[in-house]
Amino acid sequence: MQIPTSCTLCPRRCSADRTRRAGVCGAAGQLMVARAALHHWEEPCISGSKGSGTVFFSGCSLKCCYCQNYKISQEGLGKAIDTERLTEIFLELQQKGAHNINLVTATQWLPWVLEALEQAKARGLSIPIVYNTGGYETLETVQQLDGIVDVWLADVKYVSPELSAKYSAAPDYFEVCSRAVQQMILQTGAPQFDEDGLLQKGVILRHLALPGALADSKAVLDFMASLPAGSFLPSLMSQYTPFHKAMQMKPLDRRISTWEYRQMVNHAIDLGLTEGYMQQKSSAKEEYTPPFDLEGV
Ligand code: SF4
Repeated sequence: MQIPTSCTLCPRRCSADRTRRAGVCGAAGQLMVARAALHHWEEPCISGSKGSGTVFFSGCSLKCCYCQNYKISQEGLGKAIDTERLTEIFLELQQKGAHNINLVTATQWLPWVLEALEQAKARGLSIPIVYNTGGYETLETVQQLDGIVDVWLADVKYVSPELSAKYSAAPDYFEVCSRAVQQMILQTGAPQFDEDGLLQKGVILRHLALPGALADSKAVLDFMASLPAGSFLPSLMSQYTPFHKAMQMKPLDRRISTWEYRQMVNHAIDLGLTEGYMQQKSSAKEEYTPPFDLEGV
């Protein structure tokens, strides 16, 4: 495996020589992972009864001011491991009964992850591979994962460049994300489930409703409705809880209101986006954030 010396793995294309320094995402030349455990809080078709084998990678190319995982995505929390250990982690999760391997924010480590997946598959890894992403991915990265990733669990966070610039330091977010998710859908085809209702192939498009951003949430739903019907599963999330810098930023310092939530759900229903998931508004709880105690690493 070659450590990128002029990294263009994510849309930042910051050209960092990762053998010498970290890029904009915070990742350098040593693979860092913060947690590997069974996770029960994804959509039911991902978590199932036994849990999703979730691996949280350190660093992130987005800079969301409200990130609930900011300690690992932006503050570098994690443990240095090699690809051999990552291979073992994948196999251990399968042995613990995980329904799938769920790679959370892995793109900055793509060469390491691809090598570990290849080794793990050669040693018997057979459960679906889920790629859990903020949606800010280059076409090249998505294409490179064709035939490797079975399920894309991708956010569509914003349409407005102003909002994505202000909240995630990514004014080109929608332009990049909308292209990427269409490619994901092309690659996996329509959702396929096994006899237990677990997703084996397909795309879930998640949208986390933010306080004070109802117009943009509706624009995100309009975009989803413009995609071929039945080609993906929408997942509307109401669990927003102020974290990180957002705790001091209006209007992000509060949860979404019942009125905002209802307006968003009604808009989704009006658009026919009903074959998917909608969280109850009571889901806004901090328990959704797992403890980052290096478990399983
Ligand atoms: S993955 Fe990190 S180092 Fe590579 S281009 Fe993106 S921000 Fe830069």
